[in-house]
Amino acid sequence: MRRDAAANLWAHFEPAGSEGRSPSTVVGSHLDSVPEGGRFDGALGVLCAVEAVDAILDAGARFRRPVEIVAWADEEGARFGIGLFGSCAAFGRLPDRALERRDRDGVSIAEALRALGERGDATTARRDPKELAAYIEPHIEQGPRLADRGLPLGLVSDIVGILHGRVTVGGRADHAGATTMTARADALAGASEMVLAIEALAKGRGDAVGTVGEIAVRPGAKNVVPGECVFSLDLRAARGLDDLVRDVRAAIRRIGDARRVTSSIDVLANVPAAPLDAGMRDLMRRAAKSVGVDAPELVSGAGHDAMNAQLAGVPTGMLFIRSTGGSHTPRESATVDDAALAADALAFALRELAC
Ligand SMILES: [Zn+2]
Repeated sequence: MRRDAAANLWAHFEPAGSEGRSPSTVVGSHLDSVPEGGRFDGALGVLCAVEAVDAILDAGARFRRPVEIVAWADEEGARFGIGLFGSCAAFGRLPDRALERRDRDGVSIAEALRALGERGDATTARRDPKELAAYIEPHIEQGPRLADRGLPLGLVSDIVGILHGRVTVGGRADHAGATTMTARADALAGASEMVLAIEALAKGRGDAVGTVGEIAVRPGAKNVVPGECVFSLDLRAARGLDDLVRDVRAAIRRIGDARRVTSSIDVLANVPAAPLDAGMRDLMRRAAKSVGVDAPELVSGAGHDAMNAQLAGVPTGMLFIRSTGGSHTPRESATVDDAALAADALAFALRELAC
């Protein structure tokens, strides 16, 4: 086992007699969570990977091609704000100046890595995608679709594209009593109309979703007309994200003009949708079948490390495990029986790819 420069953990299983030249099949997920998160998002996928490899080796089977188990670092980005950190480093997709990002205590990513004994440059964790024959990520579903259908396993067809942005609406702070209603440039009233427009535009576009989850008003006093309003923007879709983004931009501009407030959008992250490899989807379907499950295809509305692997050109498959109680909360749950089915299905896929 080794830890790379981005703090990802790798366990390598090299077939006897091989010179480490043939590409590896990688299987895994992440171990970190969000503040006040649950025990299954991420960690269950790593455990399933360990269990699947263990079961194959216990049964006396040999790998003919290398297999690696990975536990990606900081998938949630809870500390430094960069989601999928470890896989971004491994697949060359870190945002600019990522290593200078700081946590709430002012510790940068580079400093945190050095505190672990690494050199502080996560970009050197980069893997050549040609070294990887395939990547498989088992993960809890984090939604109710499998539970609603009474099915333990599903396979992922696409991981949605995500745009994260920050919208700044500029109005004019004025006395709340002395400024007539027609003389105002109220930033919060403008922003409110924009939030409702985002909701309306995301509705009725298949799996598209649009969320404003944070909002700040300045100067923030009950007797002052809001002079500035900043809100977050989270837009996701497996198909048609660019169209949604274009329409949201146009609506924000139109509302700003009509209300005589300025508006600007800072794009913080723009990750394209990742349709997963057709061959790997078929393998996941057969793997589920091998444990008696007719697995449905699902779109993942959450981002996963798997998207970085697929976008780098590594044929990627994802197996969803039925979960209940939501996700990113201590209520999230999956049963031992379902986890065992997932590990068995994974072992089937690994045997196909590497034995
Ligand atoms: Zn996760």
